[in-house]
Amino acid sequence: MSRPIRATIHSDALGHNLALAKMRAPHSKIMAVIKADGYGHGMLRVARALADAEGFAVLRVEEGVALRAAGFRQTILLLEGLFESEEFKIAAQHDLSLVVHNEDQVRMLEQAQATVTVDIFVKLNTGMNRLGFLPTRFWAAYDRLKACKSVRAMTLMTHFATADEAPGIAEQYKRFASLTDEISLPKSLANSATLLRYPEAHVDWVRPGIMLYGATPFADVSAAAIGLKSAMTFSSKIIGVQNLSAGDSVGYGRLFTAAKPTRLGVVACGYADGYPRHALTGTPLLVASKRTRTLGRVSMDMLYADITDIPEADIGSPVELWGPNIPVDEVAHAAGTVGYELLCALAPRVPVEED
Ligand SMILES: *Cc1c(COP(=O)(O)O)cnc(C)c1O
Repeated sequence: MSRPIRATIHSDALGHNLALAKMRAPHSKIMAVIKADGYGHGMLRVARALADAEGFAVLRVEEGVALRAAGFRQTILLLEGLFESEEFKIAAQHDLSLVVHNEDQVRMLEQAQATVTVDIFVKLNTGMNRLGFLPTRFWAAYDRLKACKSVRAMTLMTHFATADEAPGIAEQYKRFASLTDEISLPKSLANSATLLRYPEAHVDWVRPGIMLYGATPFADVSAAAIGLKSAMTFSSKIIGVQNLSAGDSVGYGRLFTAAKPTRLGVVACGYADGYPRHALTGTPLLVASKRTRTLGRVSMDMLYADITDIPEADIGSPVELWGPNIPVDEVAHAAGTVGYELLCALAPRVPVEED
């Protein structure tokens, strides 16, 4: 038997989550965000499962080209736009849409040999202070882009810093609206948190990412409460069993010491598989269909499950690290991070299957 660790991607869950996004934002087109290799689920696999989306958002021109080569005809948006002028031609040839977020990119479009044109998404910085034109610089860029022969259609976009928590989107939304209300161009504002919480910001294109994979964008609302289904099951098996007496410890640093006789299962999954090393004793996992907890410190290739109360668990017992029964968000919380990071960090050595 090969090493038993697996990631299983559930296309039906991806489809379900997309349908939920459509139901919650019925008047908007969906730009499914499939950057970071589809948040670790495999970009093309995810695109196939989300083929009903009106668009896909990625980062690299190569990803856009791969999507076109696979036959996808939707809008494909490069979320950081051009990194260098040489990319313009290939983006245009493959009809990839470009975010334009700074004056350098405006210049690249002006200097392009405009035998081909692209659609662009002009990004405003309304307070996130990551990418985009400040309101004071926007009009000048807008006028140049309107006059630019390389540009076909224009959409206006921004991105919210606190759609998932207080104080919400009000201030940024107001800034965007006051600047763009009289421009009758399509607009795009909403990531998953905005899509779920602020219908007024749905406008023409929504840009859900994390919710499509069945994880929550919120710290205080679970994926299940939203109605999302986990699109990835990260699973492995028990490959060793140890019986600890009171006072025995396990693993590097002896971080867990048994207070009473404790049976533990050694699971073939470690941080080199993408499981977070910062997950402490008590992180949930499922062994032989029973919820239990990790013990001690995660190693590179192994971690420890408390199977004291699961007598049927033994070598070969199945383990769900996250998935439909163990929300990735709970594992992330135990490690002081978010589901996004764990999904994206799935290691290349983990075989991926589809069901
Ligand atoms: C990643 C990203 C999204 C998707 O965000 P989620 O929180 O995963 O829904 C949307 N818009 C932009 C600009 C992004 O970079």
